[in-house]
Amino acid sequence: MNYRHAFHAGNHADVLKHVTVLALCDALTAKPAPCFALDTHGGRGLYKLDGEAAQKTGEAQDGIARLIAEAPRDPAIQRYLAAIRACRLQHGAHAYPGSPWLLAHALREQDRIAACELHPEEAHVLRDHFAADARIATHQRDGYAAIKALLPPKHGALKFARGLVLIDPPFEAQLAEFDTALAALREGLTRWPQGMFALWYPIKQGRALQPFRRAAAALPAKSALALELLVRADDSPLRMNGSGMLLLNAPWQFDAVMHPALAAMRDALGEAGASARTDWLKRSA
Ligand code: SAM
Repeated sequence: MNYRHAFHAGNHADVLKHVTVLALCDALTAKPAPCFALDTHGGRGLYKLDGEAAQKTGEAQDGIARLIAEAPRDPAIQRYLAAIRACRLQHGAHAYPGSPWLLAHALREQDRIAACELHPEEAHVLRDHFAADARIATHQRDGYAAIKALLPPKHGALKFARGLVLIDPPFEAQLAEFDTALAALREGLTRWPQGMFALWYPIKQGRALQPFRRAAAALPAKSALALELLVRADDSPLRMNGSGMLLLNAPWQFDAVMHPALAAMRDALGEAGASARTDWLKRSA
């Protein structure tokens, strides 16, 4: 996604991604040990939905605006809506938090965050947003290379047993990006086997993703869980009909948290033919 040319912030894909990220952070912070989060494709961290670019695509109208209007009672969705309210209290009524903002919001004093962004303008804004937060290091660099450089995570003498790597690439390379992301996940798991890994991916036609799901199940993780939200039937190969989050080493019984949340997102954001799935591609032994 290149924000100079397209603006997708606040669409259904962001809703799925961000509800899931917050739920993962809450599972991590349920224990006192410090956590580390790496956001490989961080974007600018915070968006404004009243800008010209956002108005033009109107994607947030069918995404976050609908979710706020429907306000489903599911706990994971309520948690996300509370985070949006907190963001808007701080940054204004049209603010929309990106993944680095949500990580900073959900994680604690003892936790550390690294957020990468390759595009110079986006990276500049990202750095400025978090300049005053000593927990967050921002890097203008390739997020895939950061997996090699920053894992396993260390901070001085501090080592992290727990944490999350979020990989949210632009998929400009289309199907080839799946292979790049799978290779990055393999590398990350080898370097930090106990980490949780989350990869966001777009869905045009779900059946075309079977090779990807099979490859994901073969990664050296304890478990692989796919959460998928289709906002319409996936019969057109030309548009993004939905998206998924591939979770490796997800928390125990995370499907039970996300299954009702996905159903609520489908009901709030879906058109005719919408569907939601929670699939263990590989279960912990
Ligand atoms: N994760 C963000 C969020 O949820 O708010 C959104 C990220 S957006 C989907 C993808 C971002 O990756 C864009 O800002 C783009 O400039 C950046 N990008 C593209 N290629 C990259 C790379 N190789 N490494 C790091 N960032 C990259």
